[in-house]
Amino acid sequence: MKAAAPAQLRLLDLQAEDTAIAQLEHRRRSLPEHAALSEARVVRGRLQESLVGARTKVADLQVDVEKAEADLVPVRERRVRDQQRVDAGTVTDPKQLNALLDEITHLGRRISDLEDVELEVMEQLEIATGEQEMLTSELTEVENSMRALIASRDEQTAQLDAEQTAHQGVRDGLAAEVPADLLALYDRIRARAGNLGAAALKGRRCSGCQLELTPIALAGYLDAPADDVLRCEECERILVRTGADPA
Ligand SMILES: [Zn+2]
Repeated sequence: MKAAAPAQLRLLDLQAEDTAIAQLEHRRRSLPEHAALSEARVVRGRLQESLVGARTKVADLQVDVEKAEADLVPVRERRVRDQQRVDAGTVTDPKQLNALLDEITHLGRRISDLEDVELEVMEQLEIATGEQEMLTSELTEVENSMRALIASRDEQTAQLDAEQTAHQGVRDGLAAEVPADLLALYDRIRARAGNLGAAALKGRRCSGCQLELTPIALAGYLDAPADDVLRCEECERILVRTGADPA
């Protein structure tokens, strides 16, 4: 079988470039960094939300600790004053002295109770602060990994872009060598046939859809002039004769 005209042979080179460009586009879209980043964004969102809750809890507990501390101040002061009066020996009336000693005992219990309350909220504050610190460090970790993912994504995207630009340049050069009507036909078929507009006729087989030609079609193609644009009967792609004999 004779080879097709050079313009048609150019279509195969053009097809190779278009396939390469489509593969690069696919690689850029399916970089694993895209999925990893959207997952990390979800995790970051959850952590940020939890952190808002943790900060509010810490702030509330700080107020509680301050209040517990403030509650203790007048009670402690009163006990000190009472103790000073006892120590000074100015209260001589036994009834008054007993009442004073009772009050000191009562104030002691009250102070102990208030100190228990203070201790309790201080412990809660310590736990809440720990949770806040843990969330903060988890958030930092996620943000660091996101920065690394973005850098990696951008680096690979730039590399793929550069490769694509190179292929696009070659493609444009090849396209200029193909007559406009043939190029338009190729582009039209390519648009509806999975980016494959032209396929080599290999042996008796269309390399576009892999189907074998019928003997009648093959017989017709054997005698077709080099300028004739052959189409696969099955997939309608442009069949380019490369000059190899049908096997
Ligand atoms: Zn075909």
